[in-house]
Amino acid sequence: METKTLPELIAIIYELRAKLNETQNTIDAIFNGEIDALVVPNKNGHQLYTLKNADRNYRVIVENMTQGALTLDSNGVILYSNSRFASLLNFPLEHVIGVPFENFVPDEFKAAFRRLLNKGWRENIKDDLYLMGKNFERIPFLLSLTKLEFDKGEVISIILTDLSLIIETENQLKAKNIELEKAQYITAKLNKELKDTVKEKTRDLLISQRNFKFLADNIPVMVWTADRDGKFDYFNQQWLDYTGLSVDDSKNDGWMKVVHLHDIKASMESWQAALATSMPLETMCRIRKIDSGEYLWHLTKAIPFFDENSRIIAWFGTMTNIEEQKQALAKKDEFIGIASHELKTPLTSLKGYMQLISAYKQNELPPIIKQFAGKANEAIGKLANLVNDLLDVSKIQMGKLEFNTSLLNVSDLIQLCIESAQFMYPNYIISVHGKKNGIVTGNMERLEQVMMNLISNAVKYSPVNKEIDIETEVTETEVKVSIKDFGIGLSDHQKERIFERFYRVEDNTYSTSGLGIGLYISSEIIKAHNGKIGVMSKLNKGSTFYFILPIHE
Ligand code: ADP
Repeated sequence: METKTLPELIAIIYELRAKLNETQNTIDAIFNGEIDALVVPNKNGHQLYTLKNADRNYRVIVENMTQGALTLDSNGVILYSNSRFASLLNFPLEHVIGVPFENFVPDEFKAAFRRLLNKGWRENIKDDLYLMGKNFERIPFLLSLTKLEFDKGEVISIILTDLSLIIETENQLKAKNIELEKAQYITAKLNKELKDTVKEKTRDLLISQRNFKFLADNIPVMVWTADRDGKFDYFNQQWLDYTGLSVDDSKNDGWMKVVHLHDIKASMESWQAALATSMPLETMCRIRKIDSGEYLWHLTKAIPFFDENSRIIAWFGTMTNIEEQKQALAKKDEFIGIASHELKTPLTSLKGYMQLISAYKQNELPPIIKQFAGKANEAIGKLANLVNDLLDVSKIQMGKLEFNTSLLNVSDLIQLCIESAQFMYPNYIISVHGKKNGIVTGNMERLEQVMMNLISNAVKYSPVNKEIDIETEVTETEVKVSIKDFGIGLSDHQKERIFERFYRVEDNTYSTSGLGIGLYISSEIIKAHNGKIGVMSKLNKGSTFYFILPIHE
């Protein structure tokens, strides 16, 4: 290769740059419509392309179109192309102008293009056709062919619209449509299933509502329901028949009209407490019967229904006529009252005669008789306790459990009871804890009765473990005495009723005899001392019974 000097090379660069500028100017001039003809070298030598008839304004428009725009001569050679067409195929413009259009048509579409071009010479025509880009990529176009008259003869103009985006969008649209159809199908299916479920559930609900109404109207108890806030919304037929009220009359506080005046306050309080705590309601009250005007005792029970979030949905309540049980209990109380009274007199003389026998000629009595007399005295003592307890029950029932009170020290009470208990139950280990001094107002005998009852229960219900702890806690305001055993214990359910009269736990495997009145009397005595009585217990672990008395100020 011939070596060039630096100045020569610089001169060549200048020359080339000048040519480049010239070419660029020419291209700009064509675009701007400043020139009307162009000589383009091709394999047939130089060819003149006339731009004379092209109106400058139109050319500006054509240049700015988003479509490609071409003119072809009768040989199918591109005489003019806007830059958009070249860029759509990724070619520089100078590689497009003067080139047969067919060069850009893929082989498989050439025949179709020729047919189209032939037609184009005769009429305006449009059709889709794939062209080939610089990298041989296939690009879809809509070709619109029109024959134009020029000075130098006829040309075909072609406007090319790139369909890639449209086709792509159409494909996407198709895909979306398919998805949409699928979704519609699924939705329709779900809808149908939902409708079926709703139908089924509605039917179930109707059936269960009807069942509920049928049941509620045909059971012999009165039934009501209330919403979560305690607003009554349903009363069964029994209630309406018994009270003579309508459902609307009974709603809100209407039900109070038929409740005995003395029971309204307690009923209201129990209902409010149940609502506040969401705990089941259990209360008793007398309700007026419309037929006779008499008030009959009823046991009201209600339970809350919860949803899956533990929120109350509704309250379901029943009222059961317990007049007969109440009367039976009253008869029992009456009988006990009379019987214990009747027993008291012979018992007292029996006790007196026994004392006389025991005291009579002490030295002459054979030892065996002395022993029998001792046993008889013991039995009389137990009998006397029983009769006294029964008498206490009737006194309580008649509101006549009266006793004198004085100031007493709890430590004296405990001391007294421990001594008796240790004497009575020598097999048991009874230990005492805590501070004992505390002055209370009370009746020593009655409080001793309570403590001894709790201790004898601790012994009675602890057949194996024979330890009993007695603890005293004294604060500024009250004194608490607890009796703790490690015996059979009580379940939560059993604990609920043990302070009721005649209540005994029947369902434990360990059975002992008793009347079920000891705790009832104890609780009444403590209540009469303005105190509290209670129990903490666990089945098979043991119980702690306690009572609390206010400290004397
Ligand atoms: P009684 O002992 O005569 O049955 P009470 O009124 O003293 O009657 O007691 C009522 C019920 O409470 C008893 O039947 C028993 O089931 C239960 N009970 C009382 N004290 C205890 C205790 N320390 N441990 C377990 N259960 C007890």
